[in-house]
Amino acid sequence: MLLPKTIPTQVITHSLLEEKGIELAIKRLDLIHSEISGNKFFKLKYNLEQSKKEGKNTILTFGGAFSNHIYASSQAAKIEGLESIGMIRGERTEPLNPTLLHAEKLGMKLYFIDRIAYRNKAKTDFLTDLKERFGDFYLIPEGGTNELAIKGTQEILDLEDQLYSHICSSIGTGGTFAGLYASLGSNQKLLGFSSLKGEFIHQEITGLIEKHKLLSKGTYKIFTNYHFGGYAKHKSELIEFIWWFYENFGLVLDPIYTGKMAFGIWDLIKKDYFPIGSKILLVHSGGLQGNSGFTARTGIKLPNF
Ligand SMILES: *Cc1c(COP(=O)(O)O)cnc(C)c1O
Repeated sequence: MLLPKTIPTQVITHSLLEEKGIELAIKRLDLIHSEISGNKFFKLKYNLEQSKKEGKNTILTFGGAFSNHIYASSQAAKIEGLESIGMIRGERTEPLNPTLLHAEKLGMKLYFIDRIAYRNKAKTDFLTDLKERFGDFYLIPEGGTNELAIKGTQEILDLEDQLYSHICSSIGTGGTFAGLYASLGSNQKLLGFSSLKGEFIHQEITGLIEKHKLLSKGTYKIFTNYHFGGYAKHKSELIEFIWWFYENFGLVLDPIYTGKMAFGIWDLIKKDYFPIGSKILLVHSGGLQGNSGFTARTGIKLPNF
């Protein structure tokens, strides 16, 4: 999969930013590829390459029913001429939601496993059983975070992004955050906004940095207070913010990742977290495919893209 030469960056203007003496720009990973948007492109790229190198023509991965990772994996496998298997948490319900429908249309074979079995997804016995059933596949873990994913996410920032003092990213499994961290320039600070409830993410990130021996010229900080109740949760305050953001800047956010992060950044700007003269780069990690599934699940309308 080829990377586009440049990823568009969009500058945001607003009276609050002027008042606080801050610049805010958005790195539009949601626009990089017509089919595989956002950070998932970077996370999958080297994994699919590796799968081919190993002579494996099937990838197998795990995800929830609305997963951006499942959606992107089905698309990437198709482009690369690989078979794909998606192990989906929960039961199959008809009609399939838009995410799974799309994945299945692209040829991904979906298998549904109950929540208890799903917990074994990384265990050797379980994976051995799967290999007996499906043959020798290339395994991509849930959420797609592994060594090669982090190699890919280190390519998100380019030289021109060194002019920013703060880089902001949402966090799920942390693979994107870890890659960004390793690619910071000196004096740059990476701010992460966890979509999941809990403090475990601090350890998770420390673990990734140690395991993959990541070095950085910059520093990082993680915020765990903008999860809005947890991963698949939302609050009307967040939905209103997503609409406000769309109406003011013409940019669509998702309620799982980028909406929470943008809310957090805006809140921090209001609270004077950022010194005067700060230049903030918000990494829009995509995920907009999930918006129609979100509306199907909750009945709440979101901006379209
Ligand atoms: C998957 C995803 C994330 C989280 O990425 P991790 O590498 O798992 O932390 C963030 N934003 C969007 C839009 C995603 O789809």
